[in-house]
Amino acid sequence: MDYLPIFLRLKHQRALVVGGGHVAMRKVQMLLRADAEVRLVALDVLSELQQLLQGNVHEVAQRAFTEADLLGVKLVIAATDSPEINLAVYEAATLLNLPVNVVDQPQLCSFIFPSIIDRSPVVVAVSSGGSSPVLARLLRARLETYIPSAYGSLAALLGQYRQLAKHRISSITVRMRFWEQIINGPVAELMMSGQEERAKLLLEQNLEHDQQVATGEVYLVGAGPGDPDLLTFRALRLMQQADVVLYDRLVSQQILNMTRQDAEKIHVGKQRSMHTMPQEEISNMLVTLALQGKRVLRLKGGDPFIFGRGGEEIEELAAAGIPFQIVPGITAASGCAAYAGIPLTHRDYAQSVRFVTGHLKNETCDLDWSQLVQKEQTVVYYMGLVSLPEICRQLIAHGRDPGTPIALIQQGTTPQQKVYTGTLATMPQLIKSKEVKAPTLIIVGEVVNLRDKLAWRQTQESSADGPVAE
Ligand code: SAH
Repeated sequence: MDYLPIFLRLKHQRALVVGGGHVAMRKVQMLLRADAEVRLVALDVLSELQQLLQGNVHEVAQRAFTEADLLGVKLVIAATDSPEINLAVYEAATLLNLPVNVVDQPQLCSFIFPSIIDRSPVVVAVSSGGSSPVLARLLRARLETYIPSAYGSLAALLGQYRQLAKHRISSITVRMRFWEQIINGPVAELMMSGQEERAKLLLEQNLEHDQQVATGEVYLVGAGPGDPDLLTFRALRLMQQADVVLYDRLVSQQILNMTRQDAEKIHVGKQRSMHTMPQEEISNMLVTLALQGKRVLRLKGGDPFIFGRGGEEIEELAAAGIPFQIVPGITAASGCAAYAGIPLTHRDYAQSVRFVTGHLKNETCDLDWSQLVQKEQTVVYYMGLVSLPEICRQLIAHGRDPGTPIALIQQGTTPQQKVYTGTLATMPQLIKSKEVKAPTLIIVGEVVNLRDKLAWRQTQESSADGPVAE
């Protein structure tokens, strides 16, 4: 982070603005919203600005800036059109360790103004660290649509009962759950529809009731193949409310960062022949944590029910009587195929698709090969990198044309995505000469040839990865 986001209390505090034009006026308006007492110094001051600062708490001085203007000030803004004056203000403020902002000169700013959504007392601030104010503004507009305007009055209401709730409900976990239920339930709904008195009454009734011990729950969530944009809304919502997160190796840091910041995060990732935590232990842990009243997020790469052992985990949960939710995710086959420009089925080339594990058991890839050599079928191999030469060899041995196209997709849907294409005959050799990084997915079938036609036009594909067969 280049800037630490903080919210500054400026009520009845002196803020200095040097400059008297339109830019200065916008800053003054912002300061007034925070109830600051403004000292404005400028040779020329717009009459509207002068009007804005009428009243005896503010000071307007029509003269040149002097260092004495900094006396008793908490914050400084320079908004003149003279670079020399702006610099002088910056230097004088810096000498006194005062936070200073020189408008439109990021190098002369010790703080910057974010784009804000004001639903006071709820305030959302968005910043691009000065690199693109337009982007921050667009983002703000998008966020604005998610935050109902009644959130301000809702927050004010909740604030009134905060102490009482603290007093009545001593457990932090139970209290937190209580507030979540209020915010997601009928009290909030009443506030949104403007029925403040009824909302108050209901909130008080809720507080009267004995608060139950929190019951835990497990969310088995598919995090998709890598690109955070491929998460579902439901996944994101549960990610942001879970108390504990158990995640595996396939879940990227970027996605992990989207879970609740103060949630405990436990890596239980599995790697080929290097299981960080045995499956049984993971299942036991889910049960134990949920029994402690926690909301446990089991975050898995792709989809939890496709080579994800999700079935085994819920068996344990069901046996222990623990409530759970399962959230599907985009499985690697769908994600990689889409981002590589390879349709898994196609009217002319493939009427069916199979997902198969290429994981070696006892060093042999023990699959029903006769089922996998059918024409007009796409076969996707998960966990197949080590057995790739064996897969190609067996498919040819069982009658598949050696010229059948095959693609190997590395780290699909991420910026590191790479796609290698070849044929069953050439692929094993081609891969030997490359430094291939896990995870990888293999697609076999005529549809792979369509990539040359389609991938050029795709915009979400990583630029490092040209569509030419290697
Ligand atoms: N439940 C997951 C699969 C877990 S098995 C899902 O639905 O996608 C792990 C295998 O998934 C890896 O060995 C690899 O074959 C595949 N895989 C997962 N993410 C991938 C990615 N981003 N790129 C390529 N392959 C991926």
